Amino acid sequence: MNEKSVTIIGAGIAGLSAGCYAQMNGYRTQILEMHHRPGGCCTTWERDGYKIDGAIHWLTGSKPGNPFYSLWEELGALQGRNIVDHEEYARIEGKDGQVFVVYSDVDRLEKHMTELAPEDRQVIKEFTDGIRTSIDFPMPIEKPRELYGPIDGLKIMLRMRPFFAFLRKWEKATIEDFAQRFRNPFLREVFPLAVNLQNGPDFPMLGFLMSLAWMDQKVAGYPVGGSLEFARSLESRYLALGGEIHYESRVDKILVENDRAVGVRLADGSEQYSDTVISAADGRTTIFDMLNGKYISKKIQTYYGDLPVSRPVIYIALGIASTFDEMPHQTTGLDFPLNEPVKIGERERERMCVQIYNFDPTLAPAGKTFMRVYFATDYEYWKELGQDPVRYAAKKEKIAERVITSLNRRFPGLASKVEMWDVATPLTFERYTGNWQGTFLGWRITTKTLRLRMDKTLPRLENFYMAGQWLEPGGGVPTAALSGRDVVQLLCRRDKNPFAVAEANHL
Ligand SMILES: Cc1cc2nc3c(=O)[nH]c(=O)nc-3n(C[C@H](O)[C@H](O)[C@H](O)COP(=O)(O)OP(=O)(O)OC[C@H]3O[C@@H](n4cnc5c(N)ncnc54)[C@H](O)[C@@H]3O)c2cc1C
Repeated sequence: MNEKSVTIIGAGIAGLSAGCYAQMNGYRTQILEMHHRPGGCCTTWERDGYKIDGAIHWLTGSKPGNPFYSLWEELGALQGRNIVDHEEYARIEGKDGQVFVVYSDVDRLEKHMTELAPEDRQVIKEFTDGIRTSIDFPMPIEKPRELYGPIDGLKIMLRMRPFFAFLRKWEKATIEDFAQRFRNPFLREVFPLAVNLQNGPDFPMLGFLMSLAWMDQKVAGYPVGGSLEFARSLESRYLALGGEIHYESRVDKILVENDRAVGVRLADGSEQYSDTVISAADGRTTIFDMLNGKYISKKIQTYYGDLPVSRPVIYIALGIASTFDEMPHQTTGLDFPLNEPVKIGERERERMCVQIYNFDPTLAPAGKTFMRVYFATDYEYWKELGQDPVRYAAKKEKIAERVITSLNRRFPGLASKVEMWDVATPLTFERYTGNWQGTFLGWRITTKTLRLRMDKTLPRLENFYMAGQWLEPGGGVPTAALSGRDVVQLLCRRDKNPFAVAEANHL
């Protein structure tokens, strides 16, 4: 057993995961979290008897058959947890009553699309065959790429070989380009709406196909109980492994001596020393503030200067005294057109996407439902508005009012049943999690960024590692958790110890 000490900054999913694996491997760790609870972006907050769920609407690896499943099992995140697999990934309504349902089952999806647009039979088949091929697409996550030797590289090449043509075809195709191939005008218009709204029209078809393959296989369901409960299960696992978490402990600086990280300075001025520091906090803050931008390369500068960031959102939560029993459930929600454009935030909106969480009874009192709507927005707009707290609060109220009015048109009678509303903006997410521009998925996935992987160490700085959503475009809880596991494998290699994994007890 080595007894080296590790300080981890941030008790989000990445920090908790790094803590769990470091404890499993004999390191003495502490996590310093600026908030009073774990989870970071993966959170839930309470208002008037409702739980507002801030994150996971689908968890890759929720069932066996996906490589991420064993990661969640090791972290004790799935034991005893109910998972809901929705029959629909998305439901998109048109102006004249047409509906495009992105069914989770690929055969059903193909049948439905062909009925909607028989003239596009060929393109639809190409699309659904792409989903079928994605089912077997390899995802080698056992170890980080930094530890690949020539044999690993060869093995991966061999596993990937049957997919070379598939990759060539789909990774450079954007969802918008693909949609243009439909002759049916409705399908052409609504198809790109099926990818969720932090992504743009340049979202790669490959990402969409993979997501739908997981839906078809029922390996990316919704964990009942909400996101904070999910994060709490990692917190419990970490504490059971002997880790220590200090809440309300904001780190201001990473202490460095002779180009070696030796500890951290907290906002209260106290200093804590350890053999290694792992930052699982916001990437930009870590590199440019905590380390004063001293350990960067051209590549890092280019990332933080040029790469697109996942679009932050205006997040509207509602508590409704109704159960919406007649409504089917979707992974991403019901997207419907508004009678007339409505100004929400900085621009006019023509559509709205609502998620009705009546499939999770833990989020609302009996007979009631938690609902959420969100819109992509510009950070700068909110930054400016935030200078004036009165205008900022009034704007939030106006947004809630407009959203309720629009929802009331789609669900007549809803407005009179609203018991709670809450509006979060990019400033809320920024304040709460420290993430750059208030985003909660790190870099945006596009056809250009899809394959990018950021380094988990910084040039010239020893005994320092980074984990979290800023290491791989697209973010998400699986990426965050995997990065925690990966950095501990790097630590073990540095210390010449074999990497070990302890099974979590089943509840
Ligand atoms: C509305 C919404 C929907 C989402 N949907 C999904 C989904 O369906 N599926 C999915 O996989 N993911 C989803 N996500 C994304 C997912 O929640 C995040 O990508 C993931 O949780 C990021 O984890 P992280 O640990 O990398 O970072 P973070 O969650 O940002 O954690 C960083 C932690 O560091 C702490 N911290 C920051 N600075 C300091 C400091 N100076 N000192 C001490 N502590 C500090 C923060 O408080 C935070 O706890 C969603 C998120 C949101 C908000």
